[in-house]
Amino acid sequence: MIRMEEAHIDGTVIREAGRILREGGLVAFPTETVYGLGGDALNPQSSRKIYAAKGRPSDNPLIIHIADLDALGLIVREIPECAVRLAERFWPGPLTMILHKSERVPYETTGGLDTVAVRMPVNRTARELIRAAGGYVAAPSANRSGRPSPTAARYVAEDLAGRVEMIIDGGDAPIGLESTIVDLTSDRPTVLRPGYITRQQLEEVLSQVEEDSTLMRDDSGQAPKAPGMKYRHYAPKGDLTIVRGTQEAVTAYINARCQELKEKNKKTGVIGSGAVSGKYHADVCKSVGERGDEEAAARELYRILREFDDECVEVIYAEAFAESGVGRAVMNRLLKAAGYRVEEV
Ligand code: AMP
Ligand code: MG
Repeated sequence: MIRMEEAHIDGTVIREAGRILREGGLVAFPTETVYGLGGDALNPQSSRKIYAAKGRPSDNPLIIHIADLDALGLIVREIPECAVRLAERFWPGPLTMILHKSERVPYETTGGLDTVAVRMPVNRTARELIRAAGGYVAAPSANRSGRPSPTAARYVAEDLAGRVEMIIDGGDAPIGLESTIVDLTSDRPTVLRPGYITRQQLEEVLSQVEEDSTLMRDDSGQAPKAPGMKYRHYAPKGDLTIVRGTQEAVTAYINARCQELKEKNKKTGVIGSGAVSGKYHADVCKSVGERGDEEAAARELYRILREFDDECVEVIYAEAFAESGVGRAVMNRLLKAAGYRVEEV
């Protein structure tokens, strides 16, 4: 594990990390969304190693990270005009585009698909690393499958120590949730995963953007668009329920449930906003930040979920958060973690 600030890039470390990747090894590195588990995207062996290290099913495709727009042409069949416009506006940044893949991209990297997911991260360490590795780094989130995506290097180490050659510690991830994914291979551009870049922002560039109908409700029984969407996402060890309603009703409901559960000797937890510890009578109360600050909620959510697992909380209640801006992505991840269980009070 090597600490490196984005503002003070150490060329020696980058060269060493690049060498590891070129030789087929794995390097975990910081991005603005979450930490990535990188391997050479054009080397099928590297992709196999990524799946093995994560314990992830090998039909769940990987995102290829590039550092320069010139690199895009080699890995896609064609670059549609809408991709150029999105790249101009949002790259480098937390936007992943799905395009038709070229023959250079091994099926091991795309989980057997003829399409490929591509992103250009804004994090400088990530981009220097990608260049040093030869330009194409496949990188899913650097967690073991079934754990929340890591927002700090210590979580990468918790999950993957001994399974990667190097971890670059660049501090806390500033966004804290995975990239927005937009599919540009179907009739209309479609958001397959909400993220920091919202559908409204995409529509400023593309006029009309669809959203996959399964994002905010239970999708079991429907054919998933993105292979990864068929796998149950991270779920905490404790039973998680989202509670939606006015603040008073939500507080009263959660406190009543916590009281009942305490009598049964269950360890309870609450995820809320603002000052939670005075408000809730759970064993463990955690706040995602000021009420209405969706960006703070995005930054804090995965850390909080990991802490609940570490503290062996058995039943967790979460306030429903506003879905404006990145709040939609926060609620998408929270809903998945809760298995779409929502109490309206
Ligand atoms: P992660 O790298 O952990 O953020 O997960 C990457 C996710 O990107 C996968 O789970 C898929 O849902 C999605 N993805 C990657 N490649 C494709 C593709 N070719 N088509 C659709 N979705 C994709
Ligand atoms: Mg992931």
